[in-house]
Amino acid sequence: DQRITRIKNLVGGFPDFPKPGILFRDIFPVLRNPGAFKELINVVVEHVQKTAPDVEIIVGLDSRGFIFGPMVAHALGIGFVPVRKSGKLPGETISVAYSLEYGKDRFEMQKDSLKADQKVIIIDDLIATGGTMAAACELVGLLKANIVQCFVVIELEDLNGKSKLSAPFKSLIKYS
Ligand code: 5GP
Repeated sequence: DQRITRIKNLVGGFPDFPKPGILFRDIFPVLRNPGAFKELINVVVEHVQKTAPDVEIIVGLDSRGFIFGPMVAHALGIGFVPVRKSGKLPGETISVAYSLEYGKDRFEMQKDSLKADQKVIIIDDLIATGGTMAAACELVGLLKANIVQCFVVIELEDLNGKSKLSAPFKSLIKYS
């Protein structure tokens, strides 16, 4: 797909950010370009329609999953639910601890945010070690929803993050 090549060409690469040894892939130049931004959302929406047409709700991960998730949900005419870093969500929550490429954190969801067996796609901007996506899967699993797919825009293939996931996994752009 030529659209994916155009999008990939706009993704920035920053060596030694936010720590020495990390090559940070920056998605924001894609969003800055109106044509590429629109193409990116269109490609993701078409992908979901093709691979998971019965999806009922999108779960997006704090914080760049909040950019793509709601746009995709809106285009599909379905709802959106956030997974947030700890202490941000009101009401009854469930939480899990996780470690990521450069640090440790806790993820939370509101207890009533998903129904049992509801068909969910979890969306984030990028998968590196897979710890973040695996923690989100654990939370969605605690609410007994059905993860039909984990989707990321960018996959850092060498870190093999998808091996931490038991649900079907898809990515748009791969780096190795
Ligand atoms: P993981 O848990 O898979 O190691 O890290 C993935 C999480 O860290 C994602 O939420 C992602 O936003 C963030 N992350 C890790 N590395 C990068 C990177 O190179 N670029 C961007 N944009 N995010 C990253």
